[in-house]
Amino acid sequence: MNQKELLNNLKKDDNLDTIQNYIKQVIDIRGFGKQSVEQGLLLLLEEVGELAKSIRKEKTNMCIDKGKIKNYDTVESEIADVFIVLTSICNTLNINLYDAVIEKEKINVERTWVNTDKNKGE
Ligand SMILES: [Mg+2]
Repeated sequence: MNQKELLNNLKKDDNLDTIQNYIKQVIDIRGFGKQSVEQGLLLLLEEVGELAKSIRKEKTNMCIDKGKIKNYDTVESEIADVFIVLTSICNTLNINLYDAVIEKEKINVERTWVNTDKNKGE
């Protein structure tokens, strides 16, 4: 199957295992399947940086280079890139993303979260 056929087979209610498997298949087709975890991490950091820039452009009042404004992708697109690269790293490490999230959330739901905002009044 080619990339378009794989994409067209996805459905809105597919589970995370299906998405993770789809990403493995298309990453292999694109020639990134043999990349090391270190290379994957470099790509992830690059995509996180792109996400930060897209958020700065779309969601803040911070200054941005007017000459490059058309070069920046949307927040949605960069979030997708981060997810795809992160999932690809999971595939490299043979980590099931669904299982990893559930196991971590079993810990997180037992924690007590405190707001330490130093700017709020006393
Ligand atoms: Mg990107």
